[in-house]
Amino acid sequence: MSPRTEPTPTTSPAPRPDKHNPATLGFQTQSVHAGNAIDAGSGALRTPIVMANSYALPEDPSTLSWSGAIPGLYTRNTGTNQEGLQQKLAVLEGGEDAVAMASGVAALHAVFFTLLKSGDHVVVANVTYEASYRLFTELLPEKYGIEATFVDATDLAAVRGAIRSSTRLIHIETVGNPTTAVTDVAAVAAIAHEAGALLSIDNTFTPPPLFRPIEHGADLVVHSLTKYINGHGDAMGGAVIGRAELIRRIKLDAMVDVGGVISPFNAWLIMRGSVTLPLRIRQHCDSALGIARFLESDPRVAYVAYPGLASHPQHPVALRQLPHGFGGMLAFAVNGHKAAQNRFVANLRVITSAVSLGHDESLIVHVDNSGPRVAAYPAAFREFGHLRFSVGLEDTADLVADLAAALDATFSVAA
Ligand SMILES: *Cc1c(COP(=O)(O)O)cnc(C)c1O
Repeated sequence: MSPRTEPTPTTSPAPRPDKHNPATLGFQTQSVHAGNAIDAGSGALRTPIVMANSYALPEDPSTLSWSGAIPGLYTRNTGTNQEGLQQKLAVLEGGEDAVAMASGVAALHAVFFTLLKSGDHVVVANVTYEASYRLFTELLPEKYGIEATFVDATDLAAVRGAIRSSTRLIHIETVGNPTTAVTDVAAVAAIAHEAGALLSIDNTFTPPPLFRPIEHGADLVVHSLTKYINGHGDAMGGAVIGRAELIRRIKLDAMVDVGGVISPFNAWLIMRGSVTLPLRIRQHCDSALGIARFLESDPRVAYVAYPGLASHPQHPVALRQLPHGFGGMLAFAVNGHKAAQNRFVANLRVITSAVSLGHDESLIVHVDNSGPRVAAYPAAFREFGHLRFSVGLEDTADLVADLAAALDATFSVAA
């Protein structure tokens, strides 16, 4: 989505678009064609679902590495549908290669497990997906002796101050789950690289075309494919995208020898869902901005956190970093405490109370203000708890009407 520069008389004309050469294509065309190929056997225009564990060996198998990350051997070493999906994800994120795993969490673990060893130190944003927090507070320290320091990643001095000589990795989210804190990715990348560390970014909330972390200096991008990239709430997957040398290590260590590989069917579903990613993202962003403004204007709403609102603490960073839209995720609370939030959710008739996000349907989840993580959240989150709202693809008017009716029902004298 980088703006096309006007050709000057001295430059050669733009190359003719060719679906076999993703570099010649715009993002929407890439979303349709990248990673797909006409099936040589059947002539089918779509790569079929290859539900086979094993592939025919060459006449002399002694040339193969049994633990290689190569297609055409065994599905844990890379299946046909996985291979196509990986090619597509590398194109969409602008990386050299990608690895697709069974879930977003499997992808996060693959990064940390492969790149870190005992005694290494990691700087982690204090606002992240729940599993990242648990990996770095409990599992990785206790099992592997990996140390982590949690910092407010929007505070660059705090990030710099947390660096040690043993720091190997900084891990952040572009837009943090659940507070929607926006981190200046290029600035954190510079801090990481100055320290000789890598930067990994969980970009699940802002998939391309919204944001491509590698263009801003990130070394590795992680996605829960379960969310926007599949987009239909019917398959789980995760991915890591980056330089070929880093992805190769992750494939060999975490995919082949730990084994959390994606199933062929899920890879096929995600491939299919991702075709409409740019169209869906546009609607998610438009609708979320309208809804955020509606909620902010209602006095019965205690607060709204959405990077597209002028009231958001990192709005200037968001404007610079997310010029095409601010995503489909917001957090808010209605006036009152736990019971009021639960009553409001129970009064919704279109928006469903469920975890997950980035689906076609709108999902909301009430998270109260107890628990160890809340200390790192903004004051309003600490006071009221929060409703994490994944704005779906329904008519914006229906969603606004649902929210308005639920507010009326929650705060009416009769309720
Ligand atoms: C959901 C999510 C994950 C985990 O992905 P799964 O596919 O559920 O394993 C990781 N990071 C973020 C930001 C998420 O929203």
